[in-house]
Amino acid sequence: MSIYRCHNTRAILEIQRVMFWGPMFSGKTTELQNIKRQFTRAGIRAEIFNPAKNTRDNELVSSHDGQTSSCIRFSSVSDVIDAVDRLQLEVVLLEEAQFFPALGELCDELYERAIHVFVATLNQDFTGNPWPHIRDLLHTFEVHQTWSVCSLCGSMKAWYSQKISDAEPDSDGNLIGDEEDYRPLCAACWHKNSQT
Ligand SMILES: [Zn+2]
Repeated sequence: MSIYRCHNTRAILEIQRVMFWGPMFSGKTTELQNIKRQFTRAGIRAEIFNPAKNTRDNELVSSHDGQTSSCIRFSSVSDVIDAVDRLQLEVVLLEEAQFFPALGELCDELYERAIHVFVATLNQDFTGNPWPHIRDLLHTFEVHQTWSVCSLCGSMKAWYSQKISDAEPDSDGNLIGDEEDYRPLCAACWHKNSQT
């Protein structure tokens, strides 16, 4: 990343757009938390934004390894833009982006403001299909694939999030859950096992 300071004005010469893209339990939230910590240490204003639809977390974002970070809840593009302007943010870190279909519109607004964007998102739903609004944006991000460990064979290339509970998804096909609802599987174990 290249951020250059000129006199008292910080001029951003390179806009970062990075996506952490992987299954459940692959460390995506931890990546956002580490990036926020690094920017904050450098005196650069960064905040984690958490879609209102992500009911697993509220004012704190929790990684699966127990770290928590403060976050800003939002339900619309204007919620994020208002916070960016009010807090004079330079970096937006977006958690659980699969829950926010207007991601493309938001990224356009942030790009016009020269805001760095780091996104954490599931790569696919529990049926093995990508979210259209994520798939359509992949080519506009530097994509970092994140991997989990397969719950059945121990492969470090788990790429699927298998639903293992009887909980029902909402009308958009989303089911917010944790270890009791999902397990990560590699491709071989996914195809050998039920996909429901
Ligand atoms: Zn496996």
